[in-house]
Amino acid sequence: MAKIFCVANQKGGVGKTTTTVNLAAGLARVGQRVLMVDLDPQGNATMGSGVDKRKLELSVYDVLLESASIAEARVRSDRLQEAGCSYDILGANRDLAGAEVELVDLERREARLRQALKPVEAEYDFILIDCPPALSLLTLNGLCAAHGVIVPMQCEYFALEGLSDLVNTIKQVHANLNKDLEIIGLLRVMFDPRITLQQQVSDQLKAHFGDKVFNTVIPRNVRLAEAPSYGLPGVAFDPSARGSQSFVEFANEMVERLGTMRGGPAKATPKT
Ligand code: ADP
Ligand code: MG
Repeated sequence: MAKIFCVANQKGGVGKTTTTVNLAAGLARVGQRVLMVDLDPQGNATMGSGVDKRKLELSVYDVLLESASIAEARVRSDRLQEAGCSYDILGANRDLAGAEVELVDLERREARLRQALKPVEAEYDFILIDCPPALSLLTLNGLCAAHGVIVPMQCEYFALEGLSDLVNTIKQVHANLNKDLEIIGLLRVMFDPRITLQQQVSDQLKAHFGDKVFNTVIPRNVRLAEAPSYGLPGVAFDPSARGSQSFVEFANEMVERLGTMRGGPAKATPKT
């Protein structure tokens, strides 16, 4: 059965989408079966996976409104396939912005995604959900469906402040809607070790959250920032870039943690 992870942080521009698509590609590269779900109406994770959001016949919108199943709506990208790190994509586009309003009056509105994932869970090792930059009904659907939350964050002063809102939301979802939910870890992204403040915030994070802070650190790397304009994750666009290598390392760390979570030894995976 797949382990389902939400990549969430209510702040915009902190690296959620970059983390989602590169972790998906990294996991695929080390042999894992992955479904990537784009829950952001901006559709950046869709475009960044080589799928044109304007040409989607069915999207996560149709799935949330129960007019299509995931098996019908998911797509693959030829470009990811060529790059040797293919994963399935449940895409999003602007239609999804309307879903928020349309869902409000419906039953089980926060559990739509969880329900829709059930029939396909056995086909994957990992399901990764890219959340929009708000603690909205869409994000709530992600949190209700997930076993864990991956929180990408920049090591800046205000990053810590925003974290308490997210932690509180996760606690509430855990208490009221989804007993399985926990923070799997905080991922330090866009990291520059030459900046003293970043090093200090990183130390504070480790002091405060202990082993909830992932060992892998994602450096600030221009190839990761360039990749989306080519419609690919950095891991597929330029596997040799430092940022791409660190995402493959992160994929391996996730596989290892999954082994721990299942209470058994981690699957052997090629180390890069
Ligand atoms: P979010 O999804 O949280 O809004 P994004 O993943 O879209 O954030 O990242 C915001 C911007 O930062 C994008 O332009 C992205 O290309 C860039 N970016 C993300 N991670 C890195 C990194 N490690 N190095 C350099 N640029 C990055
Ligand atoms: Mg995003």
